[in-house]
Amino acid sequence: MDLGKLLKWSKAEHSHLPWRKKRSIYRTLVSEIMLQQTTVSTVLNHFERFIKTYPDFESLAKTSEEEICMAWKGLGYYRRARNLRLAAIDIAENNSKVPTKVDELKKIHGIGDYTANALISIGRNKPALALDANLERVISRLYGIKEDKGPKLQKKIQQLFADGFIFPHLAKHGPRAVNEALMDLGRVYCQARKTDCLLCPLKESCKAYQYDEVGKYPVVKEVKKESFDLDVVRFVVKKGRKILAYQKKENEWLSGQLELPTYVLKTNDKKLKQYPKLSKRLKVEKLKKFKTAITKYKITNYVCELSEAEFEELVGKKKKYLFVTNNIEKENFSTATIKTFSKI
Ligand code: SF4
Repeated sequence: MDLGKLLKWSKAEHSHLPWRKKRSIYRTLVSEIMLQQTTVSTVLNHFERFIKTYPDFESLAKTSEEEICMAWKGLGYYRRARNLRLAAIDIAENNSKVPTKVDELKKIHGIGDYTANALISIGRNKPALALDANLERVISRLYGIKEDKGPKLQKKIQQLFADGFIFPHLAKHGPRAVNEALMDLGRVYCQARKTDCLLCPLKESCKAYQYDEVGKYPVVKEVKKESFDLDVVRFVVKKGRKILAYQKKENEWLSGQLELPTYVLKTNDKKLKQYPKLSKRLKVEKLKKFKTAITKYKITNYVCELSEAEFEELVGKKKKYLFVTNNIEKENFSTATIKTFSKI
């Protein structure tokens, strides 16, 4: 496999990324956590600002959960921000020494297989494969590995790598450069639903391309997707420049973010526990509404403005609701909450 061609392409096209231009184990950890579930272009808008606010493990360890969630704004999936802070606390307690072995790294809060291997390969430039959905797809195509996408495929790839059948000369080419180049390949030419094989620097040695079976790798099992309809009402209760809201808990959707009091009007999912049901009847026909979606739920959001007294009469007095400033720059409101504001 001509990795040299791949590395040349990756270096020419992607070495400008800020987490690649200047390296440290801390910057690698922050960028890898940010890049999980968020696109490179979005991370580019936030990485340097975040590093300026929290330049090292110590500063991150000293921050509060609320502060880090604010600094994470725009990146989504706030659980990652909270885990990153907890990881920094663990590392700071160890004199900011980051372990050099996968098993030791996985003892740190929020660090799993992928991040541990990324810290070894990209952070330390030592032989390892940082296997996420991107890399497993690219490698399964390159080597023609037919296995169910996910943990089974990852286990197989790691075994083939440990046995020297996959990237046997990784150390020579540079584990960091190879991992990053494969990530680039998966992002640019070898996407899940779209490939540009003719432009791919590895097309001559790619098994899936040679067999004309690109779409068959990795093996994706048919799963019947459940989907539910959910109608909710989002109450807008104002007091001067403040607004009634609550912070989402750890086990709730969008945990850590602020939402307006939200109640279920109807749903065909009997098990839904995310929002309480509105026990009293509410006429919604004349209310403004907008659509959103989260996981398997298609949500119709009704917007209802009430006075504090009207709200308490409807749902009772609830301790979890507090008046917060309605400044969307300063407060960490959920996207649905911000959309609600645009309707009033
Ligand atoms: S040739 Fe096509 S399938 Fe193979 S690695 Fe390149 S883009 Fe992916």
